[in-house]
Amino acid sequence: LVRLRSRLSRSQNVFGKGLLGLLSRDHLDEDTWEEIEDSLITADVGVESTREIVDRLRERTRVLGTRSATELRSLLAAELVNALDPTLDRSLKTAPKDGVPAVVLVVGVNGAGKTTTCGKIARVLIADGRTVLLGAADTFRAAAADQLETWGSRVGAETVRGPEAADPASVAFDAVKRGIDTVVDTVLIDTAGRLQNKVGLMDELGKVKRVVEKHGPIDETLLILDATTGQNGLEQARVFTEVVNVTGVALTKLDGTAKGGIVISVQRKLGIPVKLVGLGEGPDDLAPFEPAQFVDALLG
Ligand code: GDP
Repeated sequence: LVRLRSRLSRSQNVFGKGLLGLLSRDHLDEDTWEEIEDSLITADVGVESTREIVDRLRERTRVLGTRSATELRSLLAAELVNALDPTLDRSLKTAPKDGVPAVVLVVGVNGAGKTTTCGKIARVLIADGRTVLLGAADTFRAAAADQLETWGSRVGAETVRGPEAADPASVAFDAVKRGIDTVVDTVLIDTAGRLQNKVGLMDELGKVKRVVEKHGPIDETLLILDATTGQNGLEQARVFTEVVNVTGVALTKLDGTAKGGIVISVQRKLGIPVKLVGLGEGPDDLAPFEPAQFVDALLG
């Protein structure tokens, strides 16, 4: 945990330092407020959220007569946590019910980190004593299935894959069937995310969803979002929410960006809780998302 926090803090340093500098000014003039606003926007908090947060912060500091930087920092932290709605349920639905495995559908654009995140989640679950099966429903690139299989053998999970260019829906169906037959706890299904063609993606993902649901309801549909793609990525993400019922977001590559504020935009724009954050390429570089902890790291 300490390692993850330090990794996150390191990546947020630019943002944190800039803000702390502003917060420690003893004189909060109009320029300073503007600079605070700019820092939040630069960190990808989003224009609307930033305005709201700064307006509330200004009002609070006025009412409270805030003078000290420490006080201001904690007021800002409170506003950021509040913007993340700390009351949301962020648990990943991976527990089997009555001996039937939980099914997690993993979606997102190519390169966002779907396969890696599947591997990391499997790792966490297996370390917790659960059994996991991976389904390689990204059948368009043989390398994608290979990569998932490599993760599978690394963390101790069986991988179900089809022949090259197989129907993704049929691989997903077979994976869940195999999971039921072998009584595993959780089936994680990795999908393809070709966004060139929205209709094609809708057809394909929609079909994967419908076919998997023949076995029973999907417990979790996790959208993988690359934090470094900023507001653009957010627009692409919206397409997925139109096709499948996204129940949670995993925000990846937060280790390489000072734009961690994207978490706030994601929740506001998509209305879906961020449940996990990816903090590196390694098997242990995944953490549950905790608003207070995250904001603390964000502010440096
Ligand atoms: P997919 O196409 O969505 O399945 O994406 P991949 O899982 O293949 O990931 C694409 C690249 O991003 C790979 O090189 C991963 O190692 C890398 N990656 C995934 N998650 C993270 C993360 O949290 N941090 C960093 N730095 N790299 C990541």
